[in-house]
Amino acid sequence: MNLDYTYSEIHQLLTGEAIADNTPIKTVFYDTRRILRGSNSIFFSLRGKLRNGNQFIQEAYQLGVRHFVVEQLPDKIYSDAQFTVVTDSLDAIQKLATYHRNRFDIPIVGITGSNGKTIVKEWLSELLKDDFNVVKSPKSYNSQLGVALSLLELNNKATIALIEAGISNPGEMDILEKMIAPTHGIFTHLGTAHLANFTSQEALKAEKEKLFESCEWVITPTDITVAGQTIHPDQSDLELSLKAPFKDKISQKNLSLALCAARQIGVASEQLKDKIGKIHGVTMRMEQFDGIHGNLIINDTYSLDSEALISSLEHQYAIAQGKKRVVVIGLENSDNDVVSGLKKIIEPYQPIETYFLSAGDPLPENLADSVILIKGNRSANMEVLANKLRLRNHQSFLEIDLEAIRKNINAYNDQLPANTKILCMVKASSYGSDATKIGKFLTRLGVDYLGVAYTDEGVELRNAGVTVPILVMNADIHSFGACIDHDLEPAIFSIIQLEELVKELIARNQINYPMHIKLETGMHRLGFEESELNHLISYLKAQPEVYIKSVYSHLASADDPSNLFAQKQIQTFEKLSSILKEELPYDFLKHLLNSEGTVHYPNAAYDMVRLGIGMYGISSNAEFQKNLTPSFKWKSVVSQVKTLSTGDSLGYGQAFVAKYHTQSATIPVGYADGFRKSLGNGIGSVYVNGNKCSVLGNVCMDMIMVDVTGIEAKPDDTVEIIGTHCSIQDFARLLDTIPYEVLTSFSQRLPRVYIND
Ligand SMILES: *Cc1c(COP(=O)(O)O)cnc(C)c1O
Repeated sequence: MNLDYTYSEIHQLLTGEAIADNTPIKTVFYDTRRILRGSNSIFFSLRGKLRNGNQFIQEAYQLGVRHFVVEQLPDKIYSDAQFTVVTDSLDAIQKLATYHRNRFDIPIVGITGSNGKTIVKEWLSELLKDDFNVVKSPKSYNSQLGVALSLLELNNKATIALIEAGISNPGEMDILEKMIAPTHGIFTHLGTAHLANFTSQEALKAEKEKLFESCEWVITPTDITVAGQTIHPDQSDLELSLKAPFKDKISQKNLSLALCAARQIGVASEQLKDKIGKIHGVTMRMEQFDGIHGNLIINDTYSLDSEALISSLEHQYAIAQGKKRVVVIGLENSDNDVVSGLKKIIEPYQPIETYFLSAGDPLPENLADSVILIKGNRSANMEVLANKLRLRNHQSFLEIDLEAIRKNINAYNDQLPANTKILCMVKASSYGSDATKIGKFLTRLGVDYLGVAYTDEGVELRNAGVTVPILVMNADIHSFGACIDHDLEPAIFSIIQLEELVKELIARNQINYPMHIKLETGMHRLGFEESELNHLISYLKAQPEVYIKSVYSHLASADDPSNLFAQKQIQTFEKLSSILKEELPYDFLKHLLNSEGTVHYPNAAYDMVRLGIGMYGISSNAEFQKNLTPSFKWKSVVSQVKTLSTGDSLGYGQAFVAKYHTQSATIPVGYADGFRKSLGNGIGSVYVNGNKCSVLGNVCMDMIMVDVTGIEAKPDDTVEIIGTHCSIQDFARLLDTIPYEVLTSFSQRLPRVYIND
């Protein structure tokens, strides 16, 4: 961002009041992890669903920020800092973005649609970049905040802007339209992906169409027409899109939209012909995975334009949190001007090392314990290098979408009365993902509590630097010492346990230690029964070493709203917890609901709910499931394709014999990864390039063979085992189990790759 405002201008714009402070403001921040240098910036303290942005003010101040936009003055006031108080800080940043946008009299192309927005934007930018100075939304910044940030990137050099707009609720597009005020539009696709909050597809279309109210023209595929001047790609666009070096229909359709837009904007057909061969079908997403030698790899090899580079550097800086940072850039040829231009962009971020490599160059050898950002232009083929750095060179991996987890938590939060706290269960490696990665992510989101099953799991989180309160549900008495040493709060379900905890506290000379009381309400697993409460109360009154932080229980049939047992449990919980409340001189939290309970019994949310599987986008309630986003994908690749003639057998036990000419593809996943033996012989299937292929013969320990007869399949083609075609729930059904078991049975050897951090 390169703004040219003063603080007084911004303050006046947002509040109407004059103030004498002419500090130049060049950048807007909203996330302290992205602050490299805070001077000449303004920090918007945004309220999240779960957090109040003010909790980051101190950190921002320490990073040099002196100007803040807040909804409430923070508790601690700094004499050399300025605070602009507004009623809604998101609204304030949008106001600034609108003001900024209105200073530019250049074409602004607004892009919306259920799919394809980002790719159409990237391709159009690629087609325009020789003739225009393009400003575009970084990555897929298309939300209410993302659009504001995209518009704030406008600068005096810009000659055109490409801005994405995405919505999920009625009413949102009006706000985006006012901000973007696009002069031209592209409507990529009208799907049902986000229909959840809309009554019909017409309602969804009407909402999206609002973006184009004052557009000179709008480019749409042939199946969509909007009010005003609609233009469809013509024959020349369609023919040209077929010449791109990829063959799938959806990409070709999206490319024809970008070509048509480029033509309308004024790029000559001849030029477009030249450019088409260089357009790449892309994996747009920045990937993040564990590398060899303790490195963390950020693989962002899609493009090397300066905005993309800056946003990757910011991301690297944000996630490194003090760890060493290394930048590796792949170039087609190491032209000096290009290198020095890149160096200038990278320099302010001060990575400890920057390498410029060409295709085929060996890797620097001494990379260890660093966060490595790998960028490059396509021809430098940095993908190959990124894959060499991947820990356990295993081509199957689990992809975990952090943005989806964030959305899912918000979806549950929306069910709850305001101020209900949220505890996130990260037991069992956070349901098969990775407890520390998810634990840190959740801390950042502002959840109130984390929960684990065993002390070791809590210790691991503490060692990784997680500081939020942690409830340990099943701490065994021998681990109480470790609990206390790591500030972990055990759940207590018997007097014997409580006595052991108190002993440890006395040995450490500690009083007033928080713990949680588990009540027996019908599960008959762990917990105090009514008859034991008097003993518990008198013990607690006598021992100053401990106090009750919360009282909780667990529902046995939370997934079944018609089961009256849950009501009975709620009543018992009410009764037992009231006894404790009456007898103890202090207050404590009460909580009862897990994810499914939150959906079915929100009236019993009490002070807090405990979310587990729901965070990953899984609910047994079909209606509520629509609000959730799946967060796990299991992906692999084709290792080899074999041709079997009639009578040829395949695999162990010759369990499959070809009845006719058959093509089989070998995939590197087996029962040791969690693809169970019972899925063999046609029971299970995977998706190769989007085509369903059933398993041929027996599942091996490390491999399966699948039927690819009649479909295009070659080594390295993408295989999806769980994802868009087969959900965790579908997979569980095939295995005759529940999603919980699927998640917690993925083998440790499958690398976890995180996206959308
Ligand atoms: C695991 C667990 C949860 C979370 O349950 P989900 O069904 O995954 O939401 C909540 N409370 C307790 C006591 C648990 O053991």
